[in-house]
Amino acid sequence: MADPSLLIDLEKIEHNARHIVSQCAAQGIAVVGVTKVTCGDPQVARAMLRGGVVAIGESRMLNIARLQSAGVKAEYQLLRIPSLSRAKQIVDCVDVSLNSELKVVAALSAEAEKQGKRHCIIVMVDLGDLREGVWPDQLLSFVERCSQLEGVRVQGIGTNLSCLSGVVPTPASLQQLVECAEQVESLLGYPLEIISGGASNILPLIAAGDVPARINNLRVGEAILLGRETIHRTALPNTFQDAFTLRAEVIEVKRKPSMPVGELSEDAFGNHPRFDDRGDIERAIVNIGRADIDTGNVQSEDSRFTIIGASSDHLLLDVTAAGGSVRVGDSLQFRLGYSALLAAMLSPYVEKSYSGS
Ligand SMILES: *Cc1c(COP(=O)(O)O)cnc(C)c1O
Repeated sequence: MADPSLLIDLEKIEHNARHIVSQCAAQGIAVVGVTKVTCGDPQVARAMLRGGVVAIGESRMLNIARLQSAGVKAEYQLLRIPSLSRAKQIVDCVDVSLNSELKVVAALSAEAEKQGKRHCIIVMVDLGDLREGVWPDQLLSFVERCSQLEGVRVQGIGTNLSCLSGVVPTPASLQQLVECAEQVESLLGYPLEIISGGASNILPLIAAGDVPARINNLRVGEAILLGRETIHRTALPNTFQDAFTLRAEVIEVKRKPSMPVGELSEDAFGNHPRFDDRGDIERAIVNIGRADIDTGNVQSEDSRFTIIGASSDHLLLDVTAAGGSVRVGDSLQFRLGYSALLAAMLSPYVEKSYSGS
C-alpha cells in the first residue's frame, strides 16, 4: 500500500470499547459508541459494537446513512441537534435524537405521526459550557411543551460539558443534571430511561467513583478510539493509545540551515513562523500536509524527530538525531490527536487500511 496511509487496528478499538463498557457497567452506565471522528466508518462501528456499546452515536446524517447502507445494525443516536430541514430523514433513520429547539421537536413529532411512529428525544440541558442545550430555568416549560406533542417521547435528558468552552464536569454538575431529571420526571409522571452525563470527559469521574448513581448513559468517542480521557488527555489504564497510525513517505532528506535565508514575511497560510538558529540540521520532507492532517496535532512515533512545519502537501521534520539513517522512500509513523485523526479520516489522499477485523 502506498503512503500516506492510516492503519486502523480494529482489535485495539474493540478492546478499548470492551474495557470502557465494563468499567461503566460496573456503575450501571451504558455506553453509546461515537464514530463521528471516523466519519461513520462501518468497520470501526462494528468493532465498537463487538466491544459492547449499546448504540452508535453520530453527529451527521450522511455518516448514519453510510453505516446503515453498510449493514451496521444498531440503535442510532443523532448527537448533533437536528436540522429542521432533515426532520423526515431523521425520523426515518434514527431511533433517538438529542434536542434543544421546540420548533425542531415539533417538526420531528409531525413527521413521526405521519410515519405512524413515536420518535424518542433526549432533551439537552446546558450546564454552562454554552454549546447546545436548554438553560436549566427553561427546562420544565420546554419538556412540558414536548410532552404535548403526540409524535415524540421524552426518553431522557443529557448534557455536554467541556466541548466548546472547556468547562470541567464535576460531581456537582452531574448532581445538578440528576436534579433536573427528577424535576422532569415529576412533571412527566414517569421515570426517564436515559440520563446521559456526557462523553469521554466523564471517565475520570467514573474511575474515581464520583458519578451520581442515577447517571446511566454516556456517549463515548475519543476514549474508545484514542484511549484517553479528554480533560487532561491522559492515557486511560488498560487501553491502547495506538489504534490509529498514520504513515507517510519520505520524499526529500537534506542537510540545510535551521534558519531561512532572506527577508521573512508570511507563509502560505498567512502565519508568521518563528525559527531558532540551531545551525545546519538534517531535514526530511514527508508526503502529507495540511490537506490531510491538523499538523499541530500529530507527533512522530520516533521521539527523536520533531516537526518543523507544514504546508498543504508537505510536512517537515528535523531528523538530525537519527544520524543520517532516514532515507528517501522510508515510511515514518505518526500518532494522531483528535483533530488530526478527523482530518486524516476526511482526506481522500490518505488511504485507510484495517487490521484485526
Ligand atoms: C462528539 C460528542 C460526544 C463524544 O465525545 P468524545 O469526547 O469523543 O467522547 C458526545 N456527545 C456529543 C453531543 C458529541 O457531540
